[in-house]
Amino acid sequence: MNKTVLDYIDLKSDELIELATKIWENPEVAYKEVKACEWTAEYLRKEGFDVTVGDYGVPTSIRASYGEGNPIIGLLGEYDALPGMSQKVKTEKEPVVEGAPGHGCQHNLLGVGHVGAAIGIKKEMEEKGLKGTIVFYGCPAEEALTGKVFMARGGAFRGLDIVLDWHPGTANMVMRGRSTAMNTFKLHFKGITAHAGGDPHNGRSALDAVELTHVGINYLREHVTDDVRMHYTITNGGQAPNIVPDKASAWYFVRAFTREAVEDVYERMIKVAKGAAMMTETEVEVEFLGGCYETLSNKVVADLLLDTMKELGPIEWSEEEKRFAEKLEEKKDNSQGMFSDIGDSALFEGEALDVAMDAFGSSDVGDVLHIAPGTMFMTACSNLGAAGHSWNNTACAGHEIGMKGMIYASKVMAQTGIKILEDNTIVEKAQEEFKNAMNGKEYNCPIPDDVEVPK
Ligand SMILES: [Zn+2]
Repeated sequence: MNKTVLDYIDLKSDELIELATKIWENPEVAYKEVKACEWTAEYLRKEGFDVTVGDYGVPTSIRASYGEGNPIIGLLGEYDALPGMSQKVKTEKEPVVEGAPGHGCQHNLLGVGHVGAAIGIKKEMEEKGLKGTIVFYGCPAEEALTGKVFMARGGAFRGLDIVLDWHPGTANMVMRGRSTAMNTFKLHFKGITAHAGGDPHNGRSALDAVELTHVGINYLREHVTDDVRMHYTITNGGQAPNIVPDKASAWYFVRAFTREAVEDVYERMIKVAKGAAMMTETEVEVEFLGGCYETLSNKVVADLLLDTMKELGPIEWSEEEKRFAEKLEEKKDNSQGMFSDIGDSALFEGEALDVAMDAFGSSDVGDVLHIAPGTMFMTACSNLGAAGHSWNNTACAGHEIGMKGMIYASKVMAQTGIKILEDNTIVEKAQEEFKNAMNGKEYNCPIPDDVEVPK
């Protein structure tokens, strides 16, 4: 273990916790993270990083770098909150503001945890005269699953040798499994309105087209591979039952474990929609909102992170923290987190886990992991039974539990980063594995140039 960097992160922990708390107190949803972006950029500037905001055509993105030459290590920070997830730092469900956004995915910790790693690595580089570059990316709108994809379209992440990506979780673990690739789009149908009782024969219902699209999609489920997920909501179903709807819209996600499968099923869903439009004599317009790749975990990087977590040992929790987590476990909603039944404590205490399980959610980290080798890992920042996107997470993200998990993650990434800077063979091995995994394929941004970055 490298004492300089651990001591430095400890020394800076009050400032880091202050920044994470400020972002927690001012939750901003996807693409609206103006304050979080400004405060994070400001902090990194003060720490001596070369900082630019709004590169890549994404206004709330940050690029902050230090050093020069290879190896170039990328760190992926995020800071967006979730709508409706407002919650006090309490063990009872009680929002700060009813219906307001909150850090139910703990991205207030996520961004700052990577900042802690960046300043830790920089300190060690200065002390030891280590060569290389560290790049912190402030990535907006992870919850929209497109922030990093728009950044990648604008040229971000190219030339990185290795990527380290941490997400707050309920246990310390590296994730070798995949998350799903995804496309998100809306269909807008246009028909002809009429009095639904008086002259229905003159109407051409846009809502009928939406419903028939869904019938078609539900039949399509039988003829796709098991990993495919298709979900939808109707965003406009008309005005009143006695008016034949001339406009109707629905919003879709399609997911699968490969980008190719998503693109294939997406095309088939569009054919279904066109068929529905033909049946109902309506017109359909496709609004493509975005897409992302599945994650691709690099074994070399995952091994390195796991070893570092094992060297650092588990997070030590105070009695007060354990009690807070126990109360949350009692009061949590019915949904269960992934590891709710590990051990006796309500907080994760064991040796870091090696998780190979695939997960059916999606993350825009997948795009970065198809540009450079890396992996995602998690540290315990919530009670073990906390479900993803839950009020338990918001409560812990503003509590010492979340802050401890964040500082621990900064140390894991900083230690791992230093190992990479000190041993050239790590990048070589990671790159070789990456090249084999890509098997001649190149990253092809799922979002075409004409799709605008949401405001
Ligand atoms: Zn998240």
